[in-house]
Amino acid sequence: MYGAIESRFADAVKSGNLIFTQTTQIPAKYNGVDVIYTLAPALAKKPGKAEVEKNSSDPAQKSPWLPPQEDLIIEKQEKYTVVLNKFAVAKYHFLLVTNEFEKQTKPLSPGDLRAAFDLLKKANSESGKRHIGFYNSGTNSGASIPHRHVQFLTLPDSFVPFPDQTPRARKANMPASDTRVPFAHFIAHLDNTDDEELLADKYMLALSRAITTCARHQVPLSYNLVFTEQWMMATPRFQDKVNDISINSLGTIGLILAKSDEQLKYVEKHGLGLLEELGFANVPEPEGATEIDDGYIKY
Ligand code: AMP
Repeated sequence: MYGAIESRFADAVKSGNLIFTQTTQIPAKYNGVDVIYTLAPALAKKPGKAEVEKNSSDPAQKSPWLPPQEDLIIEKQEKYTVVLNKFAVAKYHFLLVTNEFEKQTKPLSPGDLRAAFDLLKKANSESGKRHIGFYNSGTNSGASIPHRHVQFLTLPDSFVPFPDQTPRARKANMPASDTRVPFAHFIAHLDNTDDEELLADKYMLALSRAITTCARHQVPLSYNLVFTEQWMMATPRFQDKVNDISINSLGTIGLILAKSDEQLKYVEKHGLGLLEELGFANVPEPEGATEIDDGYIKY
């Protein structure tokens, strides 16, 4: 499969059916955490949310994957298709899209999680490189397409996403949070979980806190989900952009895109603090919080 990703990518760039934007990467640290700021001045040419939405009022009509563009298809499965991102900022950015229209605002099903993790593992083992999977869900999450899609990218060489270093939660039924990071985020360690139901439980462990956080602040649910073979992390969101800098799931592990020098300066100044503005503050776990039920903490 990975060989097909590489060769299709090269062919599609050559034929002009895939628009690959060259970028400059600026590795940095935020409070001891690895971050990479990326300058992509040509990104403004990519169709944004507004352009996608004005096409139709029917969500299914707004999907670019009914059907997917033939020369971007990597693999057809019974329920999902693996496709290349048509507007790539990083090489080999690929997506797992549902064959039928499913809403991006709904939670991932156990079957979606199973398919997404299978694909992640396959990409890791076939390429020898570590990948990150991500799901932007809700109007404030940075998502632009309403048709369900989980995305995948190669992690930059020697980049350590901060959840790799986050200590475990004090109790098994609680998600972990990293004190170095200023925004609310909820990490479920996977402990080599491979079973579909257990994966769904881990997802719910992280997601339930995102739901609680949005509910507590009385905002509609929007969140970013990022995952590796080792952990899943949910970040509740309150807004999708600041200073015209749109941040999606990748921003939550410190991979932040700027479209101009001015935006880059802003990103370098605020770093992961941007996520606190666009999400919620990282509040330490209250003493005595013991269990989660229906997404709410019991005291
Ligand atoms: P999001 O913005 O999080 O909803 O992710 C949607 C992704 O799909 C973006 O990265 C787009 O660049 C990408 N995309 C948009 N149109 C197409 C298309 N026709 N084929 C493949 N990918 C697309």
